[in-house]
Amino acid sequence: MDDNKCCICGANYGRYGNNAEPVASGRCCNDCNAEVIIPARISMMFGAENSTYESVMVMIENLSDDDYKDFCYEMDIDSEDMEELSSFVMRNYDSNRVMGFLNDRGFGAEDDTILAQMYEIEDMENPSELDLKNYRNLEIKYDELTRMDAEDMQPLFDDLKKQATKFTGMTILFTGIAAIGGYLIGRNRA
Ligand SMILES: [Zn+2]
Repeated sequence: MDDNKCCICGANYGRYGNNAEPVASGRCCNDCNAEVIIPARISMMFGAENSTYESVMVMIENLSDDDYKDFCYEMDIDSEDMEELSSFVMRNYDSNRVMGFLNDRGFGAEDDTILAQMYEIEDMENPSELDLKNYRNLEIKYDELTRMDAEDMQPLFDDLKKQATKFTGMTILFTGIAAIGGYLIGRNRA
């Protein structure tokens, strides 16, 4: 089983492992997948540089009425006052709070569903051929959803990878990812 070494932490990843792109090329264990790869992909999708006044306004426009009211309540703005909303977004389109909210309310929901299905198959003791085929398809779909801007982000991931090999505690790596990706900015996919 020596071939089945996680390309991030070096642990044995078992039978299948996970695609470690774009942090590393190769397969990684479930822990690294959950704690490194997925946050990195999410950060990539919702990177601050993708956030603009316009993209945030579109996201807000696409919120349901209830979510919009929640948004205004949480951000302490008057939901009827479009000028206030506009100037608030102008000042805050790259804030973690705004992006965290928008991200929670539906943006990224599609990949969450795919991941949930993938986890289900990963947890199976004896997945059938069909399950494995489904898994592969889900993985391809997930990769497609999350591959945006991978090239732009490559230097960052190379850096993080160096850190990951330097420290055994993954926490430090996560702090790095969180700092860069903490913006969790919605990219408008509508
Ligand atoms: Zn690992």
